[in-house]
Amino acid sequence: MFLAKTPVNVLRGVGEKYSESLASMGIYSVLDLLTCYPYRYEDRRKMAEIGTVLPGDSAWLRVRVMDVDSRRLRNGRTVVNVVVEDGGETLNVVFFNQPWRARQLRQCSQIWIFGELAVHRSKVQMVNPTVDTSPEPPQLGLLPVYPASEKASITSYDIMRFVEEALDRTGEVADPLVPAIRQRLDMWDRTMALRKIHRPSDPRDVSLARRRLAFDELFWLQIHLAIADDRRKRSSTGIRHDIACLDENEFFGILPFELTKSQLDAVYDIARDMSGDLPMHRLLQGDVGSGKTVVAALAMLIGVQGGYQAALMAPTEVLAEQHALSLRSLMSKALVRNDSAIGGIRPIAIGLLTGRMPSAHRKRILDDVANGRVDIVVGTHALLSEAVSFGNLGVVVVDEQHRFGVEQRLSIRSKGVDSGSHDPDVLVMTATPIPRTAALAIFGDLDQTVINEMPKGRQPVQTVWIREHKDEEIVWDRVRLEVKEGHNVYIVCPLIDDNERLEATSTAQELEKLSTGPLLGVDIEVMHGQLPANAKAEIMGKFKAGDVRVMVSTTVIEVGVDVPNATVMVIESAERFGLSQLHQLRGRVGRSDLPSWCYVIGNPTTQDGERRLEAFVSTTDGFELAEMDMDIRGEGAILGTRQAGRSGFKLATLRRVDREFVDKARSLAIELVSRDPDLAMNPLLRDEVEMFISGTEHYLVSG
Ligand code: ADP
Ligand code: MG
Repeated sequence: MFLAKTPVNVLRGVGEKYSESLASMGIYSVLDLLTCYPYRYEDRRKMAEIGTVLPGDSAWLRVRVMDVDSRRLRNGRTVVNVVVEDGGETLNVVFFNQPWRARQLRQCSQIWIFGELAVHRSKVQMVNPTVDTSPEPPQLGLLPVYPASEKASITSYDIMRFVEEALDRTGEVADPLVPAIRQRLDMWDRTMALRKIHRPSDPRDVSLARRRLAFDELFWLQIHLAIADDRRKRSSTGIRHDIACLDENEFFGILPFELTKSQLDAVYDIARDMSGDLPMHRLLQGDVGSGKTVVAALAMLIGVQGGYQAALMAPTEVLAEQHALSLRSLMSKALVRNDSAIGGIRPIAIGLLTGRMPSAHRKRILDDVANGRVDIVVGTHALLSEAVSFGNLGVVVVDEQHRFGVEQRLSIRSKGVDSGSHDPDVLVMTATPIPRTAALAIFGDLDQTVINEMPKGRQPVQTVWIREHKDEEIVWDRVRLEVKEGHNVYIVCPLIDDNERLEATSTAQELEKLSTGPLLGVDIEVMHGQLPANAKAEIMGKFKAGDVRVMVSTTVIEVGVDVPNATVMVIESAERFGLSQLHQLRGRVGRSDLPSWCYVIGNPTTQDGERRLEAFVSTTDGFELAEMDMDIRGEGAILGTRQAGRSGFKLATLRRVDREFVDKARSLAIELVSRDPDLAMNPLLRDEVEMFISGTEHYLVSG
């Protein structure tokens, strides 16, 4: 693109020094400059007279200079006091630290000033107004305010000047959207949008300009995803899984409960994908506790009944172990064909593979996986290691996707049948719901299924916020009561200083506090990430079996752990947790028809912390909370703090407000790519997409 290749120093105002300053802000080309958007606007539309402006209002005034007086303060600074008048009324104008104003204004009789009328010692005055000495009326409108940088010694005004020059010297900007499409979308052309975002006459201009420019950013991303999706489809060969098993009673009969309508719909979505020519590439969303795991298990069962292997990849060891346990019990009634015996059947073999296994054990599992003796293998990212090869991999379930990188998702795909002659079906699940706008932007190349119903009989978890330690007694009363009823209790402590070694300390202190105080005489187990794998598994086993009812833990239990009998979740120092983390933790209880409670103990010191806990106790709906989290923390909430602010978007957001654009961008992208898969007919757009993607962190671009 022409503007992208034109360095900023072609502008008259930009010399060597400013080039450097701009470069330090990441502005190299004229295009960079034109896409350095104002972050707010000062309203300079009002013209008034001294007598009609109210304190607090801002306006342009046409005034006569009556008196100019310059004084030096003891601290060395200069104050210039000017008395101005506009036909009857006078006003004091004060300039701090602008000594030249004395000379400038003595030579003027009439000037324009713009500023806010303020009251000082019961007299009105205007401090440091903008001055315009030309006789013509000033331009009325919104003044753009740019991200100035003191470090680079560049002001908002400098940037405004450069942008003005760039706009004046730039003619029509090329637009990859033809007029017919723009009309259909009700969007401005790009030239108009760029001009108006920098020089709006009113707020309506800003919103219409933003509408077009934010759309472009989301459109680039959606084009990229659509191309990736199209290539993947063209280059992959799916396994046509036999789904006749769904018609047999035994298939659903292995479950101890009936699926919800929503779960059934999800199973049929998945079955349709799996039986098709193309590999499944689907995102399964649902609130915590809505029963995603069961649905994923059935997807694996379809594959296994047809003679393929399935893999389930979880983000933590605890979760992998949990999954292996619950799959074993869920599949205990399921049988598969045994080809070595005529008409024979055998139980399903489930293996577990994690990084910390003793090596002899690990070797045996690897061998079983390679030889197809294991039907379903559950593991952490250890599944991705080179050492793992599958005999006949047909289905992959990736749990809690946002903890895995995109590369990891791709790399397990490549472990497919016959080293890639067929691609396995892939089902991705997220731990907590992701707002629709964000899901379409981040996982736009995946088909999406949402489970929007909870199993029958579930009661919302009663959530109570305890601010003061002195009010804690009701928590421990409840804990003692529930333990007596034979129910389980989690007590979660945050990490101290993010240092994993201290995990043990924080849980040990909590144990000490409880076992010598409010929970004296109650059996308590401690769980944290630093325990050896077998110890963790043993503790979880005891907890699940009810041999011990109270578990003090760090957030290792955050995702996926499933103990339906647990009815109380206590979260200490709750202000330290993120909203989705809190929601995950709360999701550990309320997993049966028993009433359940979540106590959050914490007294936030920040406004965000306050808003988070307020939001948390206000609803148990995970999708609603995810939207709120976006509003409080921005995109970082969804993308992980590490990745916050690097989405490559300058204007667009993944929030609710931009949903309309995401939907439009997505359908247009799909339409365009289906007609012109490599964008050969729209090289301008192709270049723009490439430029956008190369400047974007990888995570936004799945597939
Ligand atoms: P998620 O992974 O979506 O958080 P799980 O799949 O772990 O939820 O399910 C939560 C709990 O609900 C588990 O104990 C599971 O066995 C149970 N469950 C799932 N589906 C149903 C259903 N349709 N009826 C009753 N219980 C269910
Ligand atoms: Mg789960």
